[in-house]
Amino acid sequence: MNLRNIKTNTVFNMEEEENWLNKENIKCPNCKKELQICDHSPFEHSYTMYCSLCPKRVDIGLYEPVYDDIKNYKELPYKDLMIEFENRLEHCDCGGKYKLNSKRRCLHCSYPLELKEEQNVWLAEYWKEFDNEEDEERIEKKMSTFIISPKWKK
Ligand SMILES: [Zn+2]
Ligand SMILES: [Zn+2]
Repeated sequence: MNLRNIKTNTVFNMEEEENWLNKENIKCPNCKKELQICDHSPFEHSYTMYCSLCPKRVDIGLYEPVYDDIKNYKELPYKDLMIEFENRLEHCDCGGKYKLNSKRRCLHCSYPLELKEEQNVWLAEYWKEFDNEEDEERIEKKMSTFIISPKWKK
């Protein structure tokens, strides 16, 4: 199957290109625990904003009510749309602000990581094949504490 990345106009063949999201395991420079980094899939129909102070991030899907409040959002350039989101999102529980370009942080100790704009950080076990469902559920539950549904300012 071929998929075209609409942003870069490159085509991936998903069978040939096994690691097309550039998955890579790294160790946090601070706590030394393992993390997995991976590019944000260009085919995922969502935008991600990162807390300025903690490892939480919000995923903004295409059916958020906020689109109704943004004038001419379909014509807005990408950067301007991102600024609209930043201004309209409630702050994180920790007091931080969700922004497009906040540093990604270690999921274990919150240490700020030097990653590229398109890179996301996951628990190292997240994509592992699990032998039992309990482990899989545990990791998914833990991961879901870092991925927050957007709350919009009234
Ligand atoms: Zn760490
Ligand atoms: Zn936060």
